[in-house]
Amino acid sequence: MRLSKNFVPTLKEVPSDAVIPSHVLMIRAGMIRMVSAGIYSFLPLGYKIVQKIIDIIREEMNAIGGQEFHFPGLNPKEIWDQTGRVEAFGDILFHIKNREYVLAPTHEEIVAFHAKGAVTSYKDLPQIWYQIQTKFRNEPRPRSGVIRGRQFIMKDAYTLDKDFEGLDYGYSLHDQAYRKIFDRCGLKYFVVGASSGAMGGSKSEEFMVRSDAGEDTIAYCENCGYAANVEVAQSVSQKAPRHSESKSYYEIPTPNVKSIDELCAFLKIDEHETAKSRIYIHDGKPVLVLMLGNDEVNETKLQSMLGGQVRPGHPEELKEITGADAGSIGPIGFKHKIIADTLLKDANNLYSGANKNDFHIGGIDLKRDAPSIEYFDLRTVESGEKCVNCNSNLEVFKAIELGHIFKLGTKYSEALGVNYLDVNGKEHPIVMGSYGIGVERIFACFIEQNFDEKGIIWKKPLAPFDIHLIALNMKNETIARSADQLYYELIAEGYEVLYDDRLDLSAGFKFNDADLLGMPVQVIVGEKNLKDGNVEVKTRSNHEKQVVELSKLNIKLKEIL
Ligand code: ATP
Ligand code: MG
Repeated sequence: MRLSKNFVPTLKEVPSDAVIPSHVLMIRAGMIRMVSAGIYSFLPLGYKIVQKIIDIIREEMNAIGGQEFHFPGLNPKEIWDQTGRVEAFGDILFHIKNREYVLAPTHEEIVAFHAKGAVTSYKDLPQIWYQIQTKFRNEPRPRSGVIRGRQFIMKDAYTLDKDFEGLDYGYSLHDQAYRKIFDRCGLKYFVVGASSGAMGGSKSEEFMVRSDAGEDTIAYCENCGYAANVEVAQSVSQKAPRHSESKSYYEIPTPNVKSIDELCAFLKIDEHETAKSRIYIHDGKPVLVLMLGNDEVNETKLQSMLGGQVRPGHPEELKEITGADAGSIGPIGFKHKIIADTLLKDANNLYSGANKNDFHIGGIDLKRDAPSIEYFDLRTVESGEKCVNCNSNLEVFKAIELGHIFKLGTKYSEALGVNYLDVNGKEHPIVMGSYGIGVERIFACFIEQNFDEKGIIWKKPLAPFDIHLIALNMKNETIARSADQLYYELIAEGYEVLYDDRLDLSAGFKFNDADLLGMPVQVIVGEKNLKDGNVEVKTRSNHEKQVVELSKLNIKLKEIL
């Protein structure tokens, strides 16, 4: 591709709205442009990379027996109502005004629609269906460039099986295919146990890239490799003690004491002697969630445990429900459901709010004073806590999700009546799995892991071109002729070549562009070297430069690439 004739609008300046390296570099390298918040166009160079990613995904999906579909982005709303997901997705779902349509954020419903009445016998199963297609999600805070778009390309796959054994196998095929895809793309990633969120289902795992720009938080054990999204992560952490003697409970005036830290300082007690109360509204009814000390409620765990609609109580509601404001609420005298984190199980001599502003209660024995409390793992894991497998220290850090594999089970087939007949003619719901990969996220995460102060550093599999051929002075006829000839020879050898044949640009400008765009190898045709029958070859990753005889160029290129 000749740079003189193609649209590759590189920029020297860093765009002001871009913060993370991949976003900055994709814009500077003329690969993407923003149209509106969370909505991007790929320019030709960027789209070439998208295609390379898609090719790798398609090859690996076909290798596990996947059959490629193309489902519509525009869906009748009715089918989404039948699975309850208009509500589950909420504001994320784009609606077409005045028409009963939604723009699909994923395609479980449409897959079930096609399977219904068409995949009817055990003999038709299993099936692996996939597509690589545009998804629409009205993300509330689109940021980090294409990493969180309102429109993005997803490879989504679905397995249809007759039982959970079949699902396990289909799931393991996708797990292997995903590892191959991310390996081939040259990404450093790891796999974590995750929550299934709005998808529902039993088991799910995420493929993650460690990055400060990530919006997921991961707990990771370097010693044994335990890794889990904090939405589900567990740790070994110190329980609230149970003392041999239980005091009776008593009220303590605590003027202006609101937080656990303030309470500890005021009473000169340890955090492990306190219980923090949070009020949530579950399907319209109040629930008190009791946590040890300063532990944070993990709302994903709470949601999975309670089911239905869960939200934090508003300040006005707290007063109405408990008679007190946040900071003075507690289990004693609370008239509704109470649940607590397992670290509080059977604790006694505890301090908590009195449901009366400026008062706390000491001497609480949860076993004696609130016997109907149920205990669940509800806390958010923090750095430095111990691993549940090997007791080493856990590290908690940010990560970007590249892909997600779910065992859905029969949620969608039951909601939409997708059944098959077994060998005895008995009807069962089809067992489904669902598997997504974000194409743009592979693109951006590769850059996050492969750049320097000059620009992007592509490796062969995703590089839009293998070679960046630079003619230093196109006004010099010998250089122009030799560079042109070399361009055709390299193409004939099977290389993909980006050719900087622009007339009026300085050498410095061309070098900067080549480093910014980041092809693995640069071949530089200049007057001095050419006189001796040589060109200069630069490896982008380590900036190593070598003068190479034209006759030996192909050998050198093979070596580097
Ligand atoms: P996230 O938690 O980051 O919003 P998700 O759990 O909603 O992701 P899935 O519904 O599992 O994502 O979608 C499958 C894949 O699609 C994700 O693993 C991710 O790579 C990609 N993806 C999801 N949302 C976006 C988005 N807004 N922009 C770009 N890619 C996305
Ligand atoms: Mg999401």
